[in-house]
Amino acid sequence: MIYKVIVDISNSEVDKVFFYHSDFPLELGMRVKVPFGHREIEGFVVGTAESSPRETKAVIKALDPYPVVLPEMVWLLEPLSKKKLRYIDCLRLFIPSKLRGGKVKALERNYIDLCENFNTETASSVLRRNSFSQFALIERLSEGGMFEADILKEFSLSTVNSLIEKGIVVKRKEELERVPIAMPAQEKYVVLTAEQREAIEKICGGSDKKYLIHGVTGSGKTEVYLNIIERVLEQGKTAIMLVPEISLTPQMLGVFRARFGENVSLIHSKLSDGERYDEWRRLRLGKAKVALGARSAIFAPLQNVGAIIIDEEHDGSYVSETNPRYFTQEIAELRAEYNNAKLILGSATPSMESYLKAENKEYKLITLLNRVNQREMPLIDIVDMKKEIRNGNVSAFSGELLEAIEQTINSGEQAIIFLNRRGYASFIRCRSCGYVAKCADCDVSLTYHKEDETLKCHYCKNQYHAISQCPICGFKGLKEGRTGTQKIAEELQIIFPNARIARMDLDTTSGKDSYSKILSGFAEHNTDILVGTQMIAKGHDFPLVTLVGILDADQSLYFSDYRSLERTFQLITQVAGRAGRERKAGKVVLQTYSPNHFVFRFALKYDYKGFYSKEINNREVAKFPPFTKIIRILMLAKEEQNAMNASREIYTKQKKLIEESAGDIIRIQIMRAPIKRIENNFRFQILIWAKADANDEVIDKIYQNASTEIKNVAVFIEINPQQLF
Ligand code: ADP
Ligand code: ZN
Repeated sequence: MIYKVIVDISNSEVDKVFFYHSDFPLELGMRVKVPFGHREIEGFVVGTAESSPRETKAVIKALDPYPVVLPEMVWLLEPLSKKKLRYIDCLRLFIPSKLRGGKVKALERNYIDLCENFNTETASSVLRRNSFSQFALIERLSEGGMFEADILKEFSLSTVNSLIEKGIVVKRKEELERVPIAMPAQEKYVVLTAEQREAIEKICGGSDKKYLIHGVTGSGKTEVYLNIIERVLEQGKTAIMLVPEISLTPQMLGVFRARFGENVSLIHSKLSDGERYDEWRRLRLGKAKVALGARSAIFAPLQNVGAIIIDEEHDGSYVSETNPRYFTQEIAELRAEYNNAKLILGSATPSMESYLKAENKEYKLITLLNRVNQREMPLIDIVDMKKEIRNGNVSAFSGELLEAIEQTINSGEQAIIFLNRRGYASFIRCRSCGYVAKCADCDVSLTYHKEDETLKCHYCKNQYHAISQCPICGFKGLKEGRTGTQKIAEELQIIFPNARIARMDLDTTSGKDSYSKILSGFAEHNTDILVGTQMIAKGHDFPLVTLVGILDADQSLYFSDYRSLERTFQLITQVAGRAGRERKAGKVVLQTYSPNHFVFRFALKYDYKGFYSKEINNREVAKFPPFTKIIRILMLAKEEQNAMNASREIYTKQKKLIEESAGDIIRIQIMRAPIKRIENNFRFQILIWAKADANDEVIDKIYQNASTEIKNVAVFIEINPQQLF
């Protein structure tokens, strides 16, 4: 038999099908060892063939007892390659990374049990009457076998061995499953609201395949998802449930455990290799039927998928920014199509793309207008910080916010203070000569981190000692730039000495369990005020939170990025949505320097549709996605001249395409990237606006043109990049 094999080498030159023959049968999706050149390497069987165009070598062996890649995933390779993903990069996504090269295996332990034909009489006849410990062990094992390690805590090895010699007990290898985060199951009995019931009926009973649930924060979307999954399981099918970042939402896991027990498998980036392998295998072998996890769980090795749910679908984490770049929603659509499954996207602030699709009837729109138990949406108060300054208050907090915090703490409730800027101060500048501390390798100013007295670059790993005087003129009056979360936490502690304050941002959450520690501390009310970046905006459900403060809401408003207004609206709505979810109505104090900006005006009224209508119109007029595709080509080089020449060369090639493209390419620009240098690479970019439905061939040509003969220049290409720095 001739087999088509993709070899496990990350190189575009060999990213194609190779033909091998095998004397033993192989199944589609099996991992195999094959000769390749002078080496032996791993590969994946992706098909069979009648004949081969050239002489074939023989497959050496199959590496696993079952195909590690499902037929569905083999099928996915073609549509994904059309989206510019390499075969091998996809295959690597489909399996736990450490499975390759056999670096991870099932965890096996010695297991001791009574032998199959054990009976008490023969045992008594073989054993001496005073072999007390042997009798004791037999009695223990009569209740069921045990791992040897556990037995040895109470019995000696010689006791065990002598029973083995006498043929009374047997030792065998048993697989042990590594269990990630033991999260207490959180069962909560709820009576569904009418809106929830209707949503579930519409989705489970409807003939549509794709749904967008637009449900306000606290409308109980999770309960809707759980019910849909229950129905899917009843039909003997499986389900994939995606959340932006599972370590940020440990509650979600607790809820899923309570409902589905061992049937849930957890997939996210913070699992150990062993845990990841075990979870993956439970899914692959059908022991678990619900995959819950972050972006990568979209590749869960489940068969017969009945529903794919993407919670907080607007979240940027669903786009993989590192190679291989993929959009989770696109892969979800493909898998749903293959399985004839339902695809359900949910959010309080759907992305412009998704809501437009709902308007165009590509997704069926389901709306949840009310919070469960009829809680009002928290009242948002916009505070004009320019006025505060005019009144002599130059601190980061308005009088209104401080008063609200005080009241909240005094009544035994909790507050969330949101500021999307980590560190202590965004830059350090000399008041005398104007010197600004900058990274040696990047064209950005350094952020002051007071905790470890460093100046850190947020674009590379560089760190410098903090300074107390200007290194140029020696002047001691240094000005700190915009306030970050560290300083906010510090100042709040001074103002409220008795308050228990915690901080959650990238700097406090590098450890494996740090997220859950901070969050459970807050959930158990060991913390009164939680200060944090966007991490605290996501999906949390803390019943005691009645106040949310949003500092510097303008922060993300003026980025040179077509998504910045959308992002700002989403962030505000999501953070505000953390308040007043259970006890009583919540309150939000939103501090801004542009109180009349339309983003805030719509956010104030929770008017998603109002915001959407205005913004989608802007996008259409300005020719931005979802009405166009923006293709960004980024050129990086250590030598500025090389990067510049390469970008000119590529620009010339792309420009020629405009005439050939029959209107598919709208415009093209060449410029320095907004950040001119990162990690000592000079950066230039070309932006190409193409029609949203541009011909595949045109896009292919753009990709082909994105290469240069100039040495030492790296070229990257992205469609609709998430970040434009
Ligand atoms: P969303 O994701 O829409 O913001 P959640 O799914 O987190 O909202 O639900 C908010 C809270 O409401 C959760 O604590 C949940 O247990 C609770 N809840 C959900 N449905 C109901 C219901 N029908 N009755 C009472 N409480 C509910
Ligand atoms: Zn740097």
